[in-house]
Amino acid sequence: MIPTATLLWALLAASTPAKRPNMPVGWTWPPSAAMREAGSACLERLDGLEVTYRRGPATNKIATPVVLPEFIVGGLVLTPLKGKGAYPMDCQLAAGFAEVAPALAELGVKALRFRTLHEHRFVRKRGRPTKILSRHALGLAIDVFGVELTDGRILEVERDWAAEPVLAAAAAVFAASPRFRGPLTPANDPSDHDDHVHLEAHLRI
Ligand SMILES: [Zn+2]
Repeated sequence: MIPTATLLWALLAASTPAKRPNMPVGWTWPPSAAMREAGSACLERLDGLEVTYRRGPATNKIATPVVLPEFIVGGLVLTPLKGKGAYPMDCQLAAGFAEVAPALAELGVKALRFRTLHEHRFVRKRGRPTKILSRHALGLAIDVFGVELTDGRILEVERDWAAEPVLAAAAAVFAASPRFRGPLTPANDPSDHDDHVHLEAHLRI
């Protein structure tokens, strides 16, 4: 006979993924009136920060999609390593970048070199897929594989994380910002983030 405690534990473990949707508090799809209102407030903030952006295109699961036609936000360059594209993101991510851009510039960081921005996918844990919808699906997250410094040097997370403290210092800027969740880095999540840093804006509703 299987001990009751073991059985309970097994049941709990089996049901854990479904009970942890990991969505931002108040997030619904399609967006609720409160989310649309928060989106309008965010667009006003982008206007106030003098960010050059365009609305849309309508993108599955992104509440307030915007694109940055010049790939510059608050002086910070976003360099897509996968080539040209629209790379829609939620307004909250764009506004977050605009707010941390001055601190990154102080560190000598000119550009974030990224691969994935919006992508409809699920969270992977230790290389295995879960049922948790990734914040990439919401347009709130970006995977940064390296940076370009103002002196022209290009650093890669995988190659240079240990030797170039500016990479950890840049991650710390995001960690300190109330606009972002704590970044996932080679330091705090080496099993899944040894070659990139995952940055993720809060959805403020
Ligand atoms: Zn990511």
